[in-house]
Amino acid sequence: MQDLHQPLIDRIYEWVDPSLELSLAASGAKVSLLISDDQATVNIVLTYPSGGAVESLRHFTNQLLESALPHLTLSVNVSHKIIVSDKAKQGNSLDNIKHLIAITSGKGGVGKSTTALNIALALQYEGASVGILDADIYGPSLPMMLGVSEQQRPEVKEQKFFMPIEALGLQTMSMGYLVTEKTPMVWRGPMVSGALTQIINQTLWPELDYLIIDMPPGTGDIHLTLSQQIPVSGSVVVTTPQDLALLDAKKGIEMFRKVDVPCLGVIENMSTHICSQCSHEEAIFGEGGGEAIASEYDVSLLGSIPLSFDLRKGLDHGQPIMAVLPEGSLSMQYRQIALKLAIRLQLEGQSATATIPDITITDD
Ligand code: ADP
Repeated sequence: MQDLHQPLIDRIYEWVDPSLELSLAASGAKVSLLISDDQATVNIVLTYPSGGAVESLRHFTNQLLESALPHLTLSVNVSHKIIVSDKAKQGNSLDNIKHLIAITSGKGGVGKSTTALNIALALQYEGASVGILDADIYGPSLPMMLGVSEQQRPEVKEQKFFMPIEALGLQTMSMGYLVTEKTPMVWRGPMVSGALTQIINQTLWPELDYLIIDMPPGTGDIHLTLSQQIPVSGSVVVTTPQDLALLDAKKGIEMFRKVDVPCLGVIENMSTHICSQCSHEEAIFGEGGGEAIASEYDVSLLGSIPLSFDLRKGLDHGQPIMAVLPEGSLSMQYRQIALKLAIRLQLEGQSATATIPDITITDD
């Protein structure tokens, strides 16, 4: 009986997620088939959140089974289970988080925060529980991008802990919630590291699949301290195609490698310009830069996001594109990047396990 249905299971493992171009087998998913009386139940457990692909996978599986087992009633269940990072446990609320992802850039202004927020929203849209920490202490822009009012302050518990503020469905924390524009702080190196460590360790995070950390720009001491003090699963470098930004991006990749934080990939932002009048796309900063450093440093290019008016438009009023138009073409690009990131984390943490299908057949 087992051999009889093996080819069916193998066919399901061969299904390729269209946005990742990766088969279920290669992503480490688990497929099981349970046949009982006149009922066939397929359970598929993905290793990444992929809300967008679930319907197409379900449809494919249904069609396959309908023709192979026409006399049975079918049921197809698709879920996901994100495997916990094997990084050391802290003994604090960071333990509630399966993966911490640091979004970095060699220099400011390349769109790091914009990218971090849209990726966080994309992972959430695909079905994950997500938080975002604005660690960009010099210029915390997250409160504005999330539409959190300047007056809003995080609730304090036991005179020591901050409760994250929920915005756009994300659990969020930012130094911007603690200081106002009227009382800016002059940060010196050790103060910055200390304040950051404190805000990270004293925030009571709920259970999260991912915490996206919007890091300060650059490759200084703060980054080293942070990556040594908190269990970061992986880093992502955001760059623009301009040469200088690329050079800085290289430093970013090297720095995280030194502290054993894997670089999950590079995102090229403002890679081309899309004209808001005629939609013509032009590579005004040159082409292929992100791809070149990705191959030089043996990391993947997770994707390229164009310079776009639509993307910028709502950002200053708490309306990032992923929240406003999640099915639009720019959002689809963020979602694709987010899924690649999720799968890279998975593959980084464990070699994609050879899939051993489980078949349970009961003949009552
Ligand atoms: P960083 O965090 O690297 O300093 P930000 O994310 O704050 O950069 O972005 C800097 C500015 O560029 C912001 O005004 C943002 O709206 C804009 N921006 C970022 N990415 C894009 C893009 N792809 N297209 C258009 N504007 C962008």
